Amino acid sequence: MTNLLPEMAEIWQQTLNWQPTDSQQARFQQLYELILEGNRQLNLTRITEPQEFWEKHLWDSLRGVAPQQQLISSLQVGASVIDIGTGAGFPGVPVAIIAPNSTITLVDSTRKKITFIESILKELGLTNAKTLVSRAEEIGQQPQHREQYDVALIRAVGTASACAEYTLPLLKLGGLAVIYRGTWTEEETASVENAVQQLGGTVELIDNFTTPLTNSVRHCLYLRKVAKTPANFPRAVGVPTQKPI
Ligand code: SAM
Repeated sequence: MTNLLPEMAEIWQQTLNWQPTDSQQARFQQLYELILEGNRQLNLTRITEPQEFWEKHLWDSLRGVAPQQQLISSLQVGASVIDIGTGAGFPGVPVAIIAPNSTITLVDSTRKKITFIESILKELGLTNAKTLVSRAEEIGQQPQHREQYDVALIRAVGTASACAEYTLPLLKLGGLAVIYRGTWTEEETASVENAVQQLGGTVELIDNFTTPLTNSVRHCLYLRKVAKTPANFPRAVGVPTQKPI
């Protein structure tokens, strides 16, 4: 099995001012191998080449949490984190690997993906992550999840306004949502700002960067929860995508 690029240590250092420990690197490697294996039966990801996997899954997942010092500190101390639409475990599983004091809830509406993730967590011995088969629209209205999280992560799960509607109801006041995007436009900023405001949030930062190996364009939106989300949000299953705020 291809060794998952120990030579990337320097790029971690240059781009995130951080390097995985040996045991984190070993878990990244194991995660890669388990996903390749799982891909034989499940359609988990098209990203399977080692460099691409490193850049688009590992680096990208961690780049989203890196630029905010306050966020990194809270992950180190121990935050309650939720990853909505985690798919094969991104960005939540790499975050769970680097933040052992935090608890990461990995949510997806597809049972077979969650069953696969459960096997991964067991193999990796990751006891700080748990799983949930559900939809963001449902858990956002359940008292055991609504306003219970410090951080909500969401990557590749629909429009930015739908992502805001999925994540902001789940955050405690003062919590932070990280929306991982590819390209981004000024028009999108205007429309997401309106949605975020209605949901009790504010757009704290739109971070624009490129990936270190292929120079692909990325944006991360950081939404701060500054007021309670009105009780009618999130709306019923499917509505946030069909009728964006
Ligand atoms: N976040 C992963 C990543 O970036 O590699 C997976 C992205 S995949 C394109 C989108 C995932 O979101 C799918 O696994 C899908 O089942 C899940 N999903 C879509 N809408 C959802 C919702 N409303 N609530 C929970 N999961 C959802």
